[in-house]
Amino acid sequence: MIVLPESFERRMKIMMGNDFPAFSQSLANGLFHSIRINPRKITNLPDLEAVPTCSTGYFLEQRPIFTLDPLFHAGAYYVQESSSMFLEQYLKQFGKKKLKVLDLCAAPGGKSTHLNALLSDDSLLISNEVIHARAQILSENLKKWGNHNVIVTCNDPKDFSRLPGFFDIIVVDAPCSGEGLFRKDPSAMEEWSEENAAHCALRQRRILADVWPSLAEGGMLLYSTCTYNPVENEENIQWLSEFARTEPHALNIPESWGVVTTEANGYPCYRFYPHLVKGEGYFTAAVRKLEGNPQEPRQKFKSTLPLANKAEQSLISGLLQQLPISLLNFEGNYLAFPTDRLTELDQVKATLRIIHAGVKVCEIKQGNVIPAHELALSTLTNKNFFPSVDLTLEQSLHYLKREDFMPDLKEKGWNMFTYLNHPVGWAKNIGNRFNNSYPKEWRIRMSTSEYTGEKLMEEARKFPIKRDISEEK
Ligand code: SAM
Repeated sequence: MIVLPESFERRMKIMMGNDFPAFSQSLANGLFHSIRINPRKITNLPDLEAVPTCSTGYFLEQRPIFTLDPLFHAGAYYVQESSSMFLEQYLKQFGKKKLKVLDLCAAPGGKSTHLNALLSDDSLLISNEVIHARAQILSENLKKWGNHNVIVTCNDPKDFSRLPGFFDIIVVDAPCSGEGLFRKDPSAMEEWSEENAAHCALRQRRILADVWPSLAEGGMLLYSTCTYNPVENEENIQWLSEFARTEPHALNIPESWGVVTTEANGYPCYRFYPHLVKGEGYFTAAVRKLEGNPQEPRQKFKSTLPLANKAEQSLISGLLQQLPISLLNFEGNYLAFPTDRLTELDQVKATLRIIHAGVKVCEIKQGNVIPAHELALSTLTNKNFFPSVDLTLEQSLHYLKREDFMPDLKEKGWNMFTYLNHPVGWAKNIGNRFNNSYPKEWRIRMSTSEYTGEKLMEEARKFPIKRDISEEK
């Protein structure tokens, strides 16, 4: 039996009554492993048990070493705890509406990659993380996921008041006391205290108050934590319902999912307990804003952004699929961004600190196009522009580690490396060898030397996306 912090146990016994023994027993049980596939990259659904709350979520029978799977690095799926995938239930009500969405506390990117999968191509996601080092990880994960209708920012929540009434949806997956993670991450238990939980609750209110002005009238704020503490959950929803004019946002969900519905001032809230769902502890609720800044009517587009000239466009356009995108030239770095969203990019550039926007396509040096790594992983890339070479698993791992190996390169110049036909990156064939252009800061650092031959194949059998192992040479 797991030893819980005393005052946490006391509170949970009162909150859960007869359910407490089952709850506490579940904390000593093994974890469930789950992934969410990238629907823009994986079209053949894996033969795995589905997560009931999410159309792209799957449970794994065992946890593979994800680092050894090139498709993990290619953004074909994201490893995510299943309770968090409930986000889809709120988003699916919007259908394919064109939306502006803010994910305010976004690193490492679980909710943002999910939002990107759910939003239409003409929607815009602003994915923000206040801590700079974490914003870099967020940016890497979103580049791997491959959408171009994204801006990653690194700002404090109060900076968003410079964009009044801007967003249709704001997701606040708040920093919290992490009680729902005690099973997954026992260090969360060591850091836990009642004082810290109270401190978290105050910080959460400040975050909500700071970001509130940027939600449009009629917009939805989706709040979540991974804790059980009512002070950080229902009491914050109650506080928000009193702080501003709002209305509840209820969901119709089947009982069989095991999600517990609670209430705060008449606002439905949803709780996830590990003895009732195949996942970790989680809380979520949504409110609709009734009064505030309406979204400004879109003005006729007058961009100050540096659009690429005709000659540059004709040099680059073959690298990309023919979509409504614009090419921007930031001092020789070319970015692709949705044409219809340039006004918003302009506004965000003037008000927030951007880490990355859209997809970097290439640089042009002395008339030569040098493809950017993130283009290979982007859903914008024209896979037929450069010759491609499908690597074996071992070769892919050498590539992702930036080690020497010699694949069967077809042509001189740039080649796209793929694994099971999913792009993993570029290499430049210079005759007797090739230059590996996999980003140094993304390379696999783990020692993989023991994973060769049959031992590697054994691991590969646990990978989530079905593959024919006999294809491996
Ligand atoms: N949404 C993320 C996901 O699904 O992968 C997880 C977010 S995590 C629960 C909370 C995030 O809030 C952390 O990345 C943390 O750095 C950030 N954070 C911490 N303090 C914050 C603050 N005062 N304002 C906004 N975000 C903060």
